[in-house]
Amino acid sequence: MPTFRTLRPTPTGLVPDCQLMFRRRIAVIGAGAAGLVTARELRREGHGVVVFERGDSVGGTWVYTPAVESDLLSLDSNRKVVHSSLYDSLRTNLPRECMGFSDYPFVAVTGNSDNDHRRFPGHPEVLRYLEDFSRDADVNGMVRFRTEVVSVEMEGEGRWAVKSRKIDDGLTGDESEVYDGIVVCNGHHTEPRVAEIPGIEIWPGKQIHSHNYRIPQPFLGQVVVVIGGSASAVDISRDIAGFAKEVHVASRSYCVENPMKQPGYDNLWLHSMIESTNSDGTVVFQDGSSAHVDVIMHCTGYKYHFPFLKTDGIIDVDDNRVSSLYKHVFPPFFSPFLSFIGIPWKVVPFPLCELQSKWVAGVLSGRIAVPTPEEMMEDVKAFYLEMEQAARPRRYTHNIANYQFEYDDWLASQCGCPPVAEWRKQMYEATAKNRVARPESYRDEWDDDDLVAAAHQDFKKFLFSS
Ligand code: FAD
Repeated sequence: MPTFRTLRPTPTGLVPDCQLMFRRRIAVIGAGAAGLVTARELRREGHGVVVFERGDSVGGTWVYTPAVESDLLSLDSNRKVVHSSLYDSLRTNLPRECMGFSDYPFVAVTGNSDNDHRRFPGHPEVLRYLEDFSRDADVNGMVRFRTEVVSVEMEGEGRWAVKSRKIDDGLTGDESEVYDGIVVCNGHHTEPRVAEIPGIEIWPGKQIHSHNYRIPQPFLGQVVVVIGGSASAVDISRDIAGFAKEVHVASRSYCVENPMKQPGYDNLWLHSMIESTNSDGTVVFQDGSSAHVDVIMHCTGYKYHFPFLKTDGIIDVDDNRVSSLYKHVFPPFFSPFLSFIGIPWKVVPFPLCELQSKWVAGVLSGRIAVPTPEEMMEDVKAFYLEMEQAARPRRYTHNIANYQFEYDDWLASQCGCPPVAEWRKQMYEATAKNRVARPESYRDEWDDDDLVAAAHQDFKKFLFSS
């Protein structure tokens, strides 16, 4: 498996004895985890920052809402978009020690019984952490809430026209401003991908994407097919199984010859993918079994979506590849004035965003060197060729599961920071193994207390330094 390419025809990384520092005016789009840490890093580097956030608070995905979209598959382009995809019962699938930013530990705050002290806490605890981070890093004052970016267009090198609109404010129209650079942090768990299912046009049942799933009670007594093999499919199928008559999980990743009843459940089965759906309401699986089904739930992931970017097709999303991005961050011919934070998936997102944003901030100021646009493009092309030769589908371009820590450490080396702590890497691996060994209970039973102790040892320097 190819890892990622490092071009070194010209020096990259820290510029020795850098005297000339550019202080630029940067627009950050989004105040989720990525936008918050980006704002902090840009300001640390001396840049002026405005964060545009269409919601009325910080936290992005972690701002749970019971609201769902009018079109439960989210295919209607005129629908009112709901940003968050969280379901009510969601607990993190990463341990909190691993998940937090490197210098702002995600620890349980003692002395407040309202807080969730679990190692894999529920979503309100993650939101609390991000709100605390935003307050303590003094980011709140940089954010313009209820302000949606509707258009971003390059006017000239290092001149970007940003049009924004106040939400639900009938008084003001669009506002236009010019920035030196744009950092896109708009998240990628809002625009659903829907499975292609043979016969679905004539199938009479109801379909919903997990983006619009909140609670299991509406599925009481129903027969539900959940499509997907991701963490959400695993969680949601179990959530629904407490209320539904039957839950059938169909996934490309399960090669089962017969339906496999899940241990501990009498109404939850695993299947191979769907073979067909029919006008009599039946769903036939590739394993030969079938069921009369009320609801199909698509837990099939999301698409990158940048409706505000006007680049005449220079930046394109094709089968979930954002092309072209050097190291998943800089579009070569707009570098460094346009960048994207948080694009990689199957990762530990918060610390990854932290390192990417340090890199972007340093490159924008001239403290960190990057290759020329032509060299970046050459690197991207070589990466795509490696993927093609390995018969790796385009949609996995930003799936960096196999090399996330190598990637993080490369970013750290560019920024002159230490590599990711060894305990964090080992904890990630230990959690992945535990999830397989104890799919039902990995959030409450584990064997890596030694790594938790190492993490807390590491945290001391941050917890006692403020
Ligand atoms: P988001 O949090 O989505 O933030 C993007 C922000 O941009 C939003 O506030 C949005 O309102 C704003 N925005 C978008 N467009 C515009 C615009 N045009 N103008 C202005 N503002 C705009 N990660 C973990 O670490 N651990 C987990 O356990 C975990 N579980 C997850 C479970 C689910 C169901 C999902 C969907 C994700 C999970 N993640 C988890 C990943 C999660 O997405 C990341 O942790 C992280 O929150 C991503 O942050 P972000 O800032 O990139 O995007």
